[in-house]
Amino acid sequence: MKTKKFQKDKVNIITLGCSKNLVDSENILTQLRANQIETVHESKKRDANIIIINTCGFIENAKQESIDTILRFAEAKEKGKIEKLYVTGCLSQRYKNELEKEIPQVDAFFGTNELPALLKKFKADYKHELLGERITTTPKHYAFLKISEGCDRPCSFCAIPLMRGRHVSRPMEELVSQAHHLAKNGVKEILLIAQDSTYYGIDLYKKRALAELLERLADVEGIEWIRLHYAFPTGFPEDVLDVIAKRSNICKYLDIPLQHASTRMLKIMRRGITKEKTEELIAKIRQKVPGITLRTTMIAGHAGETEADFLELLDFIEKMRFERLGVFTYSHEEQTYAFSMEDNVPEEVKRERAEAIMELQQEISAQINQEKVGTIQKVLFDRKEGGYFIGRTEADSPEVDNEVLVDAKNNYVRIGDFANVKITHAEEFDLFGDIVK
Ligand code: SF4
Repeated sequence: MKTKKFQKDKVNIITLGCSKNLVDSENILTQLRANQIETVHESKKRDANIIIINTCGFIENAKQESIDTILRFAEAKEKGKIEKLYVTGCLSQRYKNELEKEIPQVDAFFGTNELPALLKKFKADYKHELLGERITTTPKHYAFLKISEGCDRPCSFCAIPLMRGRHVSRPMEELVSQAHHLAKNGVKEILLIAQDSTYYGIDLYKKRALAELLERLADVEGIEWIRLHYAFPTGFPEDVLDVIAKRSNICKYLDIPLQHASTRMLKIMRRGITKEKTEELIAKIRQKVPGITLRTTMIAGHAGETEADFLELLDFIEKMRFERLGVFTYSHEEQTYAFSMEDNVPEEVKRERAEAIMELQQEISAQINQEKVGTIQKVLFDRKEGGYFIGRTEADSPEVDNEVLVDAKNNYVRIGDFANVKITHAEEFDLFGDIVK
């Protein structure tokens, strides 16, 4: 086996999974570069001799993608195309022992909270002072801000607490200084992420402090959009709604995964809320923040779900008219509470139910988008692609929501800039228009 000659160490970080994992990769990138180690993220070039894979272990598909990625680079190592292979993140946290046995080509596996140990492999020190200064890998004008780690919730289907541990809020000072750092580096939009953002502060300040955090972040100069993700419905801190309604640079947007609607299923899923209470909360949110965009996520085919439960969920989605909605099919995950139940909904039926939910949501989204034709929307432009400048309104989060497309032949805008767009045409998940002064 001819080993490729590498002049000097160069690291390429590969991130799988969610935005929380991306923030972890950005922290690895920041620490390695601060230790003078040449490091890139998701580079397609094959000039790195050291690979770090930050894995996802959430559900079956994600686990398979992580394993396939590890095997691909294990093979590259065997062929001498790379010299070192390190694996970190949720899959590694959850299945370290098994993976060490099955894929010995990997030099070392690390858990989700072992950055200092990973850095040791590079004879690099963990620089605590860098916490406020993260190098981001998203387009320069937006960045994720992870406000806490882990989760204390008992949701039946979820393996995340197994991989991320108990809920730990990050100190408010640290988050505010990071926001200043991001704003100084040109970030205009900050996306607040966590496993459960509404739990923020309970551990650290013995009270729910998300509203206070939002106020502090809204005071950061240069930040024009603050977007709140991963809110939990049970015990929802309503003072957050007052801050969203009051502060102009906090998006009238809320991502609140509900997972189901039938009270019977919400009980089985250990969500701690009923359908009636959920409907009351949604009504309260819409009353306190008129025009708010609600994003939610549902699970189709959870163990024990009957046809009647599913029809109740469809009916609920039709009635609530969420502006944005995603759906997962239930994945029977070891060591979760639901794993003790029978996974009695056939895969085929899970898929059919998920498809039916998205068909209904497509209609709802098309109707809501149609109502925007003729309006002027403030749009933040993310990229140019296929002859269009493509951006998002306040109602759209990157990578998961709708987009606004502006024909590049008769319009010009700098990527990362805001511009007002007159909407001329609408489709299910996209809006089209022209820039107006
Ligand atoms: S809130 Fe529930 S679904 Fe979300 S990370 Fe925590 S346990 Fe998992």
